[in-house]
Amino acid sequence: MIAKPLPASIRPQTIPADLPLTVWQAMKRGGLGCCPRCGLKGFFPRLLKPVAQCRACGQDWTHHRADDFPPYVAIIVTGHLMAPVMIVLASNQSISLGVKMAVAVVIAALMIAALLQPAKGAIIALQWWNGMHGFLPSGRDEAAVAGHPEG
Ligand SMILES: [Zn+2]
Repeated sequence: MIAKPLPASIRPQTIPADLPLTVWQAMKRGGLGCCPRCGLKGFFPRLLKPVAQCRACGQDWTHHRADDFPPYVAIIVTGHLMAPVMIVLASNQSISLGVKMAVAVVIAALMIAALLQPAKGAIIALQWWNGMHGFLPSGRDEAAVAGHPEG
């Protein structure tokens, strides 16, 4: 006997996920604002608040505990990228100190603001992949079951 498909009204709203092959692919998806598990866009409906549940794959994202780690990452990356800019600004004697400070502060603030969401997405993906904070089964386990190599 062939089973008839369920009516759309009671069919599950999730589709099989296009699981990432490696942790790096999951982190890239999260960093680009996509669901780390299936790659659907719109992982962050608000600036730093991820969706509670992916509307495509059904993954529950309320288990993440990114906390203060995204700002740490954003500050570390910004500091390393700003070092050459600060050296150039400091070595140029024709620019006043006030202008140097204003340029450095504005660039650093913009870079940190731009890096916060990608850092948070990547960190949430890392936590999901490793099964941290209630993400069970972990993304790594799901990928292994699906036949993907661990990354
Ligand atoms: Zn998803």
